[in-house]
Amino acid sequence: MSGDVWSPWIDSNDSKIDIFWVTFRVHSHISRGELSFTTQLTLSNGMPGYDRTRFVNVSEADLNAYTCNICELILNDPVISVCCQITYCRDCITQWLSTHDNCPGLLHALTVDQLVTPPMIVINLWRNMQIKCPFYDDGCDQVIRLGDFYAHLDTCLLNPVCDVCGDRVGVDHNCTDNLKRRVQFLGQRLINLENEFNLIKQNTIPKLTNTEGIVALSE
Ligand SMILES: [Zn+2]
Ligand SMILES: [Zn+2]
Ligand SMILES: [Zn+2]
Ligand SMILES: [Zn+2]
Repeated sequence: MSGDVWSPWIDSNDSKIDIFWVTFRVHSHISRGELSFTTQLTLSNGMPGYDRTRFVNVSEADLNAYTCNICELILNDPVISVCCQITYCRDCITQWLSTHDNCPGLLHALTVDQLVTPPMIVINLWRNMQIKCPFYDDGCDQVIRLGDFYAHLDTCLLNPVCDVCGDRVGVDHNCTDNLKRRVQFLGQRLINLENEFNLIKQNTIPKLTNTEGIVALSE
């Protein structure tokens, strides 16, 4: 963490504070058999980037190259500012630009429209970096590609299930979005079942009111 005054995570005493990323903290309760414990899961201290100590077989030079210039952690969803070609986590720079109209480092005029995705070759290298599962210390021995990070969380057996929506909590879990998707899915399923039921009714009732049909059925 640099001491630049613009950093949103540094207060006047230069100590780290989480103003914006509180929602990244997930407190969840997990019960498995008689075991019951509480897990607090964050990517890294509640900030968007990934903790560099979680990476495996990645050189210091590569870790430095993939470090966000705001949170100073390993990039999460990297974007580049067109003005000075500096890389940031999308959330970090978007948050910055919600209260500023310039880039953080060199103070060029900058808007969200002027953020671009890094070249494919850079993105692919970033996706292929190996990181330990966030539940590694709890017993998941998986080392995963960064590109598979969230997919792994959806299936990781050590990732607790949300009490409210029943899905795995992961990081930056949003019950409301999950439940909206679930309601939409169930609504569509209900319509399909009603259509199916009407179709069966249309085909079956005439047969049952037809005497020959009943005789045929009873034979
Ligand atoms: Zn960042
Ligand atoms: Zn700039
Ligand atoms: Zn895992
Ligand atoms: Zn939930």
